[in-house]
Amino acid sequence: MFDRPLNRRFDARKAERHGETVSGFMSWQDMPELAQVTENQASDRIQVSVRFERTEDRVHAMHLTFDGSADVLCQRCLEVMAVDMSGSCSLALVMSEEAIERLPEGWEVNMLDEDGSVDVYRAAQEELLLRVPMVPKHAENCGAIVNQDDAPVEKPNPFAVLAQLKGKNE
Ligand SMILES: [Zn+2]
Repeated sequence: MFDRPLNRRFDARKAERHGETVSGFMSWQDMPELAQVTENQASDRIQVSVRFERTEDRVHAMHLTFDGSADVLCQRCLEVMAVDMSGSCSLALVMSEEAIERLPEGWEVNMLDEDGSVDVYRAAQEELLLRVPMVPKHAENCGAIVNQDDAPVEKPNPFAVLAQLKGKNE
């Protein structure tokens, strides 16, 4: 079921009418911003499922589910450790700024492209960036303290990368 890449683009309305869950993998090479803040190989994969729905309160929603992990450096022992990226999120798909104002409260927004399509990779990558810990550390005490003063090793801050990415898309 997961042995093929996820489609990058969906026609939101068409996918909503279908209503079925589409699953596939995304590779790190498709997520350059996530690659900047993680240690993964370009060929590493994360499983993603996407489902489109018109909700009861008439929101055009996209539900994303992730299954997989990312490799980051423990800031204490500087060994690579896996952090769980699994989980799900829901985004409201809108065509305009005015549509954002009409949304019921509490929705995270994703702006559709002019042709009504959505770049699922872009949306998924933004969500995954939010799941990367700012200062990853093993839960248990992990051996030699290499990094005495707790200063993070030079890696871009995931939130800064996310802000850049969002800026680029606007
Ligand atoms: Zn560690």
